[in-house]
Amino acid sequence: MNISHHFDDATLMAYAAGTLPQGMALVVACHLHWCPECRHRVKQAEAVGGALLDNISPVAVSDSALDDILASLDEVPAAAQKQVKTSEPNQTELPDPLSTYLNKSLDDLPWKWIGYGMYQVDLNFGGKGAARLFKLAPGVSVPHHTHTGNELTLILRGSYSDEIGRFRRGDVADLDSDVLHQPIVDTGEDCICLIATDAPLKFTGIMGRLIQPFIGL
Ligand SMILES: [Zn+2]
Repeated sequence: MNISHHFDDATLMAYAAGTLPQGMALVVACHLHWCPECRHRVKQAEAVGGALLDNISPVAVSDSALDDILASLDEVPAAAQKQVKTSEPNQTELPDPLSTYLNKSLDDLPWKWIGYGMYQVDLNFGGKGAARLFKLAPGVSVPHHTHTGNELTLILRGSYSDEIGRFRRGDVADLDSDVLHQPIVDTGEDCICLIATDAPLKFTGIMGRLIQPFIGL
């Protein structure tokens, strides 16, 4: 798999610290299943957290404390690399964490039509935000929208392009409230994405406001 879009460090740090909402944590876990690079960065984030805890002490910290912590991280890559090899993804279409949760193939899901060539399946995690699967027909253009919170998207099948670039299977879009974008599905096949948010989307155009009640994100 040729992955060219990854998560921000802030997202991976939050994942390592266990502070992401359940749906967003699922999106991260699924990408990690496919992406050795992000797995390695999560290991580093965990090592930083561990090193900081190990160095908590009631006495004043020496000037070289940060250098010492950073130096100790040099030992992490070998260990992380080893883990990468033993958890090599299998060849099925879905990443293991999602496959385990859904327990059926993408084509067997109860897709609900929401208009304009778009279908969705709500994963019903409850709590803050939402996690859904979206299926978009070839050539479909998702209305312009911004985000009141963060939105994590993992492409499972097909591809789309927006103002940021082209996103293919395995890629993630890690968007915050500053981004206004309009994904357009590349022609050829459906694009299926796993999308999790920690707050509702905000559609900006008239088309977006029309479909907002149907999507309900
Ligand atoms: Zn990655």
